[in-house]
Amino acid sequence: MKIKGSDRKGADTDGENYRAELVGVLGDSVDGNPTGVMEEAGFAHAGLNYRYMTIRVLPEDLDAAMAGVRAFHMRGVNLTMPHKIHVLKYMDELSEAARVIGAVNTVVCRKDGTMFGENTDGKGFVQSLQEEHVALKDRVICLLGAGGAARSIGVECALAGAGKIYVINRNEVRGISLAQTITEHTAARAVWLPWQGTAGIPEDTEILINATCVGLAPQSDACPDIEFGDVKAGMVVCDVVFNPVDTVFLTRARACGARTIDGLGMLTNQGCINFTLWTGREAPREVMYAKLKEEFSGV
Ligand code: NDP
Repeated sequence: MKIKGSDRKGADTDGENYRAELVGVLGDSVDGNPTGVMEEAGFAHAGLNYRYMTIRVLPEDLDAAMAGVRAFHMRGVNLTMPHKIHVLKYMDELSEAARVIGAVNTVVCRKDGTMFGENTDGKGFVQSLQEEHVALKDRVICLLGAGGAARSIGVECALAGAGKIYVINRNEVRGISLAQTITEHTAARAVWLPWQGTAGIPEDTEILINATCVGLAPQSDACPDIEFGDVKAGMVVCDVVFNPVDTVFLTRARACGARTIDGLGMLTNQGCINFTLWTGREAPREVMYAKLKEEFSGV
């Protein structure tokens, strides 16, 4: 049936409907957050009358914003800095990963009024490795960083079977906390290595991941300060930074003979997981990936 005012369909409507289902992201800053562009492309392709809103919410306004999420009958929201941890107190249920990581980046508002918290960053990363046929079982990983993205990636890689994880981070408290979290809650062993000056990469590393923000635009000339002499041919080197898509870190790793995986696959995959959690439908991954690629590479 043709829907008035739109060619798209709300998920739980079978008649005429002007009302769009609302999802979005809450954060500060969010101006450069690309998720909405990707999700909207997916909704349009799937013919779903959903709208993704990119909403600036200051730390002191999270309470009001979450009340708004309820009042507007939103289907769910993404959380970005600085809300990923503070949003935990509004959740009625958490996924295992969100509980272990201690942060939520995706909220699903259920029809019974309860809220479910998930963390999709690490899942998106693990999926991007699977897409490149990189196995995680018993592999040795070196993770640069211990912030939100690193926690999510470290825990999910461990839950996916990684054997050993080195966490290299400047801040000792964050580095130790991530290593302890992984070791206590998963079968993997993790150790923190301090990052002073140029960081050496342990010799048995098979997968090296930049999970810091170093190299992110506008500082796109920056590169994590590591000993590139330790990067070997055959090593898999990944970057979470997606803007630019091909970072200095990846370019230099390729020059050492490593195989590289950029952050765009991870970003797309976590967006696809969100799409399915909110709509119950399979996400049109290729459409969403192409939209992001267009945004960041001008392709
Ligand atoms: P956080 O602020 O939580 O963590 C930042 C991390 O970077 C910390 O570990 C910090 O170390 C480290 N760091 C910052 N500057 C330096 C430096 N000069 N040298 C060494 N380490 C440094 O950020 P997030 O974890 O949320 O985000 C990190 C990156 O991941 C961002 O670029 C973000 O865009 C990207 N991201 C990508 C996603 C994707 O789908 N591809 C999804 C989510 C995030 P310290 O603790 O010592 O301060």
